[in-house]
Amino acid sequence: MAKCYGCGKISKGGMPTVKIEGEERPYCADCYWKVQKEYKGKKNCEDCSYFSAEKCKKRNKNLEPVTVGYLTYFVQAEDCGNYSTDKDVALAEVRKLEEAGQFGEAASGYDKLGMSEEAEAAREKIAQESVVNARSSVTNLAKKGKTLTYYCPHCGAPLKVGAKAEAKKKCPRCKGDLDVLNLAKLISQHQDE
Ligand SMILES: [Zn+2]
Ligand SMILES: [Zn+2]
Repeated sequence: MAKCYGCGKISKGGMPTVKIEGEERPYCADCYWKVQKEYKGKKNCEDCSYFSAEKCKKRNKNLEPVTVGYLTYFVQAEDCGNYSTDKDVALAEVRKLEEAGQFGEAASGYDKLGMSEEAEAAREKIAQESVVNARSSVTNLAKKGKTLTYYCPHCGAPLKVGAKAEAKKKCPRCKGDLDVLNLAKLISQHQDE
């Protein structure tokens, strides 16, 4: 049994829901269609220069999305005095993110602005960061006297890294390249052991 939040119609079957303010509201097909249309027409924070990864940087807080089917809307923009679609403002905000070391968010910001080279450069920094992290993880393992076994992605040979073994650049069996990024992933999976 479901009761439409819009018109009060009762249905034995299920109804599509809209999530507003943490509440799942069922709607009959007609009302759901209206709600979909209504939200499509609203101002969306995602188009705003001060928005990044569900967060409004003017209000400095995470925004609660309204979920309609598969789509999410941040409609706080509707009554927000800071709403801006100025590209220069957006770019300045993205640069700030990058300076703060939030490369992932910066990269998607650049993507949104159609600046693919900058986006790639920011992503490159994420990769560099994980290489640095991987190296320091290996150092930490060694300090703790631990050794990890991992496997060559090419031939499956068991390889060791940590106290008794340095990270290798090539597999001793097949001479394949051992990606330091894979090593970083492996180590982070075993971090808690
Ligand atoms: Zn209805
Ligand atoms: Zn190998």
